[in-house]
Amino acid sequence: RAKAAGRNRLAFFDPALQDEVNARAAMLRDLRQAMETLRFQVFYQPIVNTHSRVMGVEALVRWPHPERGMVSPAVFIPLAEQSGLIQPLGQWVLTTACRQLAAWHTDPERSLWTMAVNVSARQFRDADFVQKVMFAIQSTGANPHLLRLELTESMLHSDIEETIEKMSTLRLIGVRFSLDDFGTGYSSLSYLKRLPLDQLKIDQSFVRDVLTEPNDAAIACTILSLAKSLGLGVVAEGVETLAQRDFLLEQGCTAFQGYLFSRPVPATQLTDTIAPPVAA
Ligand code: C2E
Ligand code: MG
Ligand code: MG
Ligand code: MG
Repeated sequence: RAKAAGRNRLAFFDPALQDEVNARAAMLRDLRQAMETLRFQVFYQPIVNTHSRVMGVEALVRWPHPERGMVSPAVFIPLAEQSGLIQPLGQWVLTTACRQLAAWHTDPERSLWTMAVNVSARQFRDADFVQKVMFAIQSTGANPHLLRLELTESMLHSDIEETIEKMSTLRLIGVRFSLDDFGTGYSSLSYLKRLPLDQLKIDQSFVRDVLTEPNDAAIACTILSLAKSLGLGVVAEGVETLAQRDFLLEQGCTAFQGYLFSRPVPATQLTDTIAPPVAA
């Protein structure tokens, strides 16, 4: 086997590793093809207030693969990041989400809904990032005040001055920023204070066992009080049970996202109001 591969100057002795390399290459080829023909979809997951009223949605990309079914973004987003496909894919998601947002402007039930869009590190570091966001807004007619970009902690360290400048420029036209998966990365508190952020999203890993793991509850409560003292909003992610929602509500959380309210769905399947969950 090593000999046969020899002419490629690369020998794999571990069949499992070889399989993984082949699988990755196949997936990347499929991803490139899907990008060329734009075979992606955007699903939307409601974000609700303390009365379970929908205040906005988060756009989440979906890749329906002909053989694999729906491939999770947790699998293909990292691949898209490594291969540079994330820039065109991210711009397509942003434009699609902005077009949907603009369509809601004339719907009385949805005209105030916010649209959250995930931004990857490579997209954000792009020298043209600000222009690309502005282009998506202008070309679709979306109201920039209703657009929220979700960044993650890890992408904020590299060049703080540049990060602040990009965020501030977009903020001037009304775009707001959330810090996604908060608590899983490393954020210096002084950074948090300097960044023009509007919202923290408590990562679902702290929400999952918030009722049974005192450490997770402590982290969730710390994020809530940190946000309060910095004047930031908070969304709890991954809320699946009423008990989780009630605990977080009691601790001062005002916005929730999770299967308890709705899974991510195509825009046509969104409902304007979600019945407030009632305790059994
Ligand atoms: P995220 O931005 O933190 O999005 C929340 C994830 O949690 C979504 O997974 C959502 O389906 C899932 N979720 C929501 N509520 C619940 C719940 O109650 N329980 C559980 N177990 N999960 C819940 P999804 O859609 O698979 O996306 C995974 C990640 O992929 C996202 O995490 C985000 O980091 C990334 N992603 C998704 N779409 C995009 C995109 O358009 N661009 C970029 N750059 N990243 C994206
Ligand atoms: Mg997100
Ligand atoms: Mg998140
Ligand atoms: Mg996450």
